Amino acid sequence: MKSISLILILCLMLSAAALAESAHAPEKEGSIDYMVLVNKLNPLPDGWEDALETVHVTNSVGDDVAAEKRAYEAYLALAADLEANDGIHTELDSGYRSVAEQQEIMERFTETYGADYAARTVATPGYSEHHTGLALDLYFIVDGKTVYKNEDLVQYPEIWRKIHTRLADHGFILRYLDGKEHITGYGYEPWHIRYIDDAQAARDIMSQPGMTLEVWLGAVEDTDPVIDYGSSALYSEADLEAAAVQIKCKFASFAGCALHSLRYAGDACNSEENLKWLSGLDGGKNYIQVIEFLGDFHTPVDPSDGSAWEPDTEYTDYQWWLAHEEGKGWQLLSWGY
Ligand SMILES: [Zn+2]
Repeated sequence: MKSISLILILCLMLSAAALAESAHAPEKEGSIDYMVLVNKLNPLPDGWEDALETVHVTNSVGDDVAAEKRAYEAYLALAADLEANDGIHTELDSGYRSVAEQQEIMERFTETYGADYAARTVATPGYSEHHTGLALDLYFIVDGKTVYKNEDLVQYPEIWRKIHTRLADHGFILRYLDGKEHITGYGYEPWHIRYIDDAQAARDIMSQPGMTLEVWLGAVEDTDPVIDYGSSALYSEADLEAAAVQIKCKFASFAGCALHSLRYAGDACNSEENLKWLSGLDGGKNYIQVIEFLGDFHTPVDPSDGSAWEPDTEYTDYQWWLAHEEGKGWQLLSWGY
């Protein structure tokens, strides 16, 4: 009896807390900054989750997806536009993700795969654009078939081109552009769109090829790194490109640094000695091939607190080491001199 009444009291307390929360939400509406920059260097601003108002929907595969209220309304208009004018049926794969959920994912991955692997594959809690509620991942249904997985979605560039053309009119931009990994920190994601609540600004960004939110907001200066894949008897250009994307994604978290060049170090990097070294780094992985790139970059005039960089200096022949296991993608494992 005692335990039942305790549960009852707990339930009442919880529902009172929930009521208090929903009663607060409306007066905070509109207090979020729709131009907010959240990336590997810029965390979600304090108080964001308190001010955020989300809408929950169930998508075509039965998943619950949440999004910021205005972003969701704009998405509905975008989806209707695409359906009516291009015959494209889009769905929401994911939207808002709380910092706590991201923390849980990180902990689960750390337990299962170890801290190094988790750090490489899961966005650091607090630094994912999905925390804003303004980032949406799309999938679509084409000829009655649900195209859902990333590796399948990239097979439809023509559909993505049509979707991307209509984003700006509804206040959305494409966020992770091909070739801008050194700015955004992410590889090309045709499905990840971002609501900025300003169609004119969105048109300005989307009309400039290669324009990222980071550069448009003046948070960073763009550099167009020169990438030299050299010649290789071991690796295809696609292999080397995939490795370079990993390096550029990591480089985006080198605050204030400008990447000038990357060049493949040559097939001699794939030695037994290097395989042994890199396999040993990660608690005994069985890597089967190695790629080394050398890069040049410039450090900021005024590095942020705690930065180990020499200010305003060109670092040349900086080494980037990647390896892969049988049947798996390239992992960036070591960088430095
Ligand atoms: Zn996304």
